[in-house]
Amino acid sequence: MTRGGSGSPRKPLSPRRPKTAAPDAPKPEKAPSKRRTVITKGQKPSQKAPPVSRAPRTVSEKKRIAAVVLEAFQREYPDAHCELDHTNAFELLCATILSAQCTDVRVNMVTPALFARYPNAQLLATARQEDVEEIVRTTGFFRSKAKNLIAMAGALLDRHNGDVPRTIPELVQLAGVGRKTANVILGNAFDINEGVVVDTHVQRLSRRLGLTREADPVAIEQALMPLFPREKWALLSHLLIWHGRRVCDARKPRCGECVVAEVCPSRGTLE
Ligand code: SF4
Repeated sequence: MTRGGSGSPRKPLSPRRPKTAAPDAPKPEKAPSKRRTVITKGQKPSQKAPPVSRAPRTVSEKKRIAAVVLEAFQREYPDAHCELDHTNAFELLCATILSAQCTDVRVNMVTPALFARYPNAQLLATARQEDVEEIVRTTGFFRSKAKNLIAMAGALLDRHNGDVPRTIPELVQLAGVGRKTANVILGNAFDINEGVVVDTHVQRLSRRLGLTREADPVAIEQALMPLFPREKWALLSHLLIWHGRRVCDARKPRCGECVVAEVCPSRGTLE
């Protein structure tokens, strides 16, 4: 017997569902997005992180912002450089140790006298701590800084023939030297791009630009390195620091004057 032959009664077909809803049928409501952060007039948004909805989520989005930032800042700050005055690696090491919790301008006021009296590790290693303290007093924490400077110079003599070493593991063994200082020395005295210097400006800018949500400087450094070409790492720190000092102020960023406002997820939310 053939299927659906005329001998058996046909079952009634189930009604077909219309492919499209009738024009006057109520549309299903969209579930409200949980990602959107709405900032109402007068409301002060958190300064700690950009609104979640606008922050880049993927590595490729972050790389796109990173490329725009690098290009724009290189154009805007062609002279960006380390603002600690120095003529060699030893002087930069001393200046960077003194720059902890202190401005570069203040450090530059005391280093001419320090370098004139102790131009090398040999002389600094045998200095009297009170004499060094007197010179560096205005940089704050002067007792521990003077002690660290003398100990650092002694270690240079004992372990490195009086020269400044060129690796992070060797540098961080010196008194008063952490990873940030080691990166400053390698990038600026020796042109070695081993990492990114993450100071308070780099920390703030990286987060505001949506390049990372990390708060810890080492984690921020790890997040920034894959986003920028290695040969630009030392320069990158200077560019972010210069922009942080001149435009993207910690309390009152001037987004209206900012050359990267177009790609910044925090633009206008912190003013
Ligand atoms: S100034 Fe404004 S737009 Fe520019 S980086 Fe800072 S927060 Fe973003």
